[in-house]
Amino acid sequence: MAERYDVVVIGGGPGGYVAAIRAAQLGMRAACVDSRASLGGTCLNIGCIPSKALLQSSEKFAEAGHSLAEHGISIGELGLDLAAMMARKDKVVTTLTRGVEFLFRKNKVDWLKGRARIAAPGRVAVTDNDGASQDVETGAIVIATGSESIPLPGIAVDEERIVSSTGALALERVPERLAVIGGGYIGLELGSVWSRLGAKVTVVEYLDRILPNMDRELGPALQRLLTRSGVVFKLATKVVDGRAGNDGVALELEPAAGGTRETLAADVVLVAIGRRPFTDGLSLDEVGVARDPAGRVTVDDGFATNVAGIYAIGDVIRGPMLAHKAMEEGVAVIERLAGQKPDIDYDAIPSVVYTWPEVAAVGRTEDELKAAGVEYRIGKFPFTATPRARTNGDTDGFVKVLADAASDRVLGVHIIGPDAGTMIAEAALAIEFAASAEDIARTSHAHPTLNEALKEAALAVAGRAIHI
Ligand SMILES: Cc1cc2nc3c(=O)[nH]c(=O)nc-3n(C[C@H](O)[C@H](O)[C@H](O)COP(=O)(O)OP(=O)(O)OC[C@H]3O[C@@H](n4cnc5c(N)ncnc54)[C@H](O)[C@@H]3O)c2cc1C
Repeated sequence: MAERYDVVVIGGGPGGYVAAIRAAQLGMRAACVDSRASLGGTCLNIGCIPSKALLQSSEKFAEAGHSLAEHGISIGELGLDLAAMMARKDKVVTTLTRGVEFLFRKNKVDWLKGRARIAAPGRVAVTDNDGASQDVETGAIVIATGSESIPLPGIAVDEERIVSSTGALALERVPERLAVIGGGYIGLELGSVWSRLGAKVTVVEYLDRILPNMDRELGPALQRLLTRSGVVFKLATKVVDGRAGNDGVALELEPAAGGTRETLAADVVLVAIGRRPFTDGLSLDEVGVARDPAGRVTVDDGFATNVAGIYAIGDVIRGPMLAHKAMEEGVAVIERLAGQKPDIDYDAIPSVVYTWPEVAAVGRTEDELKAAGVEYRIGKFPFTATPRARTNGDTDGFVKVLADAASDRVLGVHIIGPDAGTMIAEAALAIEFAASAEDIARTSHAHPTLNEALKEAALAVAGRAIHI
């Protein structure tokens, strides 16, 4: 007799493992199928967590090398033990993935180790690494199989000299020259790691600015600051060919609009041109689950696919490919199955680029508001005028608040600056609560904190910032 569950979640990433735990909390019998050796999906194993561990370590290295002297601290000769840095990153990953295993045990969620295939609505076949297969029956199936890196035609990833983000998180040596193809957040974060550790980094981007999906002031501002730290940018440039030889990799570049080619020589090339939904091996066509032209599983507002009893969440459906978005959807899909009516405000989902300074945003960009014909006012405040930024010695960047011209409701907040990723939480709360710029401006902010810059930017919407 096949084991029977109320919910079987396919994929143990932030969307899937959160869904499975929420199901158990609500009294459902839940299983989560994942084929990796450890839970946590892309995010914990090869994404958010290892990248942030290396960003933190490399930032400390850069700080020790360049910025401690102005604080009156001198520390002899600087040394790098890359193996120790990588071992620390691996330990952070192991601790957190084991933490998810612990949560599964605590909540009585079964982890079915293996690859899942949807045999039929209500039936999932799981094949483990030894080839042994078992079928389980379930009331509902939640597809949370995530995403994978998009390959660049003609540039074959070998994870040694031509790497995806996964290889770039595990290099054994600091490359002398690193070429990064793609000026999105993954390329910029991993480019920053290796630049801080001593690599000569060149970022090649097809469009005419980095971070093209963010408010158009942010990319150029970050580019200026990264350029100052030694990163080279080649914008409006396409990679047409790449050859690995004895002396590294030779990339053939061409202006995006056409023109004279040039060669960029690198020891390692990181291909970071984006991610695409991953549904291989699920048998979606056989079961009749519809996908859009981009390969995303099509869902309605309640995450239901076109096949009764099959749902999908996270990177594999529409919307930003972010761990916290996947987690919100993991909770929401299960609560809907339990008859509740949760709602996700996608405008209130922040996005963060963990470079230094960080870049963070929530809500609408100026371009989006213009396209929608919305009248808005702008309040801007620089970190140079923020006392805490001065005490910290981190004064690069600004906060920009966009508010509806008629109602003063906050429509978007865009920050480049120290700890922008932490600061953006206040702005996300403001948008979730439909706050006005005046609500933020009249909220007492502890002094001296970096968040005072957000208060001042909100004051600036009405032309009454105090400290500038
Ligand atoms: C380098 C990098 C850095 C990132 N940094 C951030 C960040 O700082 N913040 C952020 O919000 N997001 C970040 N992301 C994105 C984030 O990792 C994803 O948005 C998130 O992991 C999506 O969660 P998910 O649950 O949808 O899928 P995933 O985390 O991709 O998990 C899907 C899981 O399903 C498994 N699976 C797939 N098919 C099957 C099958 N048939 N049977 C069994 N198991 C299967 C996969 O092996 C995987 O473990 C980063 C991504 C990368 C690559």
